[in-house]
Amino acid sequence: MPPSFDVRLDDLTGARAESREAAQDSDSILAGPPSELGVNKSPTRHSPAKAARRAGSQHHGDGAWSTHPVLGDERTFYIETFGCQMNVHDSEKVAGVLLGRGYQQVETVDAAKLVFYNTCSIREKAAQKVFSRLGEFRKHPDHGKVIGVLGCVAQQEGLAQLEAGNRRVTGLDTDTDETFETEMTRRDNPFRAYLTIIEGCDKSCSYCVVPYTRGPERSRSSASVLEEVRKLAGAGYSEIQLLGQTVNSYRDPAPRGKTFAELLVTVAAVPGIRRVRFTTSHPRDFGRDIVEAIDSVPALCDHVHLPVQSGSTRVLRAMQRTYTREEYLEKIALIRSARRPISVTSDIIVGFPGETEQDVAETLSLLDAAQYDGVFAFQYSPRPNTASLQMGDSIPEEEKGRRLAIVQDRQREIQVARNNELVGQTFEVLVDGASRRPGQWTGRSSSNRILNFSSPHSDLLGQYIQVRATGASPNSLVGEQII
Ligand code: SF4
Repeated sequence: MPPSFDVRLDDLTGARAESREAAQDSDSILAGPPSELGVNKSPTRHSPAKAARRAGSQHHGDGAWSTHPVLGDERTFYIETFGCQMNVHDSEKVAGVLLGRGYQQVETVDAAKLVFYNTCSIREKAAQKVFSRLGEFRKHPDHGKVIGVLGCVAQQEGLAQLEAGNRRVTGLDTDTDETFETEMTRRDNPFRAYLTIIEGCDKSCSYCVVPYTRGPERSRSSASVLEEVRKLAGAGYSEIQLLGQTVNSYRDPAPRGKTFAELLVTVAAVPGIRRVRFTTSHPRDFGRDIVEAIDSVPALCDHVHLPVQSGSTRVLRAMQRTYTREEYLEKIALIRSARRPISVTSDIIVGFPGETEQDVAETLSLLDAAQYDGVFAFQYSPRPNTASLQMGDSIPEEEKGRRLAIVQDRQREIQVARNNELVGQTFEVLVDGASRRPGQWTGRSSSNRILNFSSPHSDLLGQYIQVRATGASPNSLVGEQII
């Protein structure tokens, strides 16, 4: 279904959706800021309330409109993102295209002529937030702005139509390689670049709209991927994160093309690239060759995000996940057998239609068996155009909340124990930013752990440094730079 650009509320349900595996929302738990683990708390950037405070505008918070809107310059745009890295990266592409055409990005709705909401519709909460934003526009029909609801970079043709004055726009045929190629992408992080290598999905999980909204899997050629990685390295990016709803289902379209594991190794060999991550992996397509690649190439990060969704084979069947509990645990055993310790994170849905207490108990026992380093757990919510919509929504919200809390508590205990075992170890950390406290910095290890650490230096941003862990919490480590 094409994306639509308009203020009609019924259009929103047609917005493109993200994988639940790659697009969870703000009720996620555990682990650190989710942008690295398949999740972005929404909104992660350009928070209208904060931006408005900074700009001194008349925002009323939470994206609300000023009652006396100031029309933005004709060539200004504002974009707000709800969802995962793929949504964020899509927004980066949209911003890049607009900047390349002479538009100026602004930090408030009030200051913008074009207003974009890039949303993941797989999560009811994300969709509701956009409904709320659009509701504010309806209250002020004289706003004079052009509103776009996006969900996929395929709308670039739509952008052209939007510029041409069309208020309602349909998108590209999704079955092309155009979705990958942009004139320019404005990346938000100066050290870490996202790069989509596969779009769409050929699986058919019963709760997920991605196969419907994003179409079948389409992989970008390895030559094209490598060309962009070289450019990124030349521009100073040292960490590359390869993206896809099922990134490890990558199939190089070139004759005698590379496997996903071969692509990982080749990307990691590009001069200037120090870290390569990938997300999200589907258990069915996760093979030994990926583990062997991580084992043999230090630049491949020792972290795998491998969503399980449930510990019960009965529920997995109802979800149409294509693997059993036992088959999934075999993949975990494969990862744990690596010479390098590889951290593993996962996604879990509680309250799927028909889920019993026994099913929940099996999910808890799977947590014990898998010993995840982080889990994003969610309550099931029925979404339009999914097979599970026909199954009803039999578990009351209160009960879903209880099950979610049980899962979170068990996983928190696991993480406390695992992180405590790391105290005393040394990690190479890519420094993401300075903490509010003087002399305190934050960064991530190859295993994607957050380390908050002290250092006497004042210019660490973007550097790789050695940090010794001196303490642990469920979601992060504290430490000190080794001088
Ligand atoms: S693997 Fe399943 S959950 Fe993930 S994008 Fe495909 S259909 Fe959706």
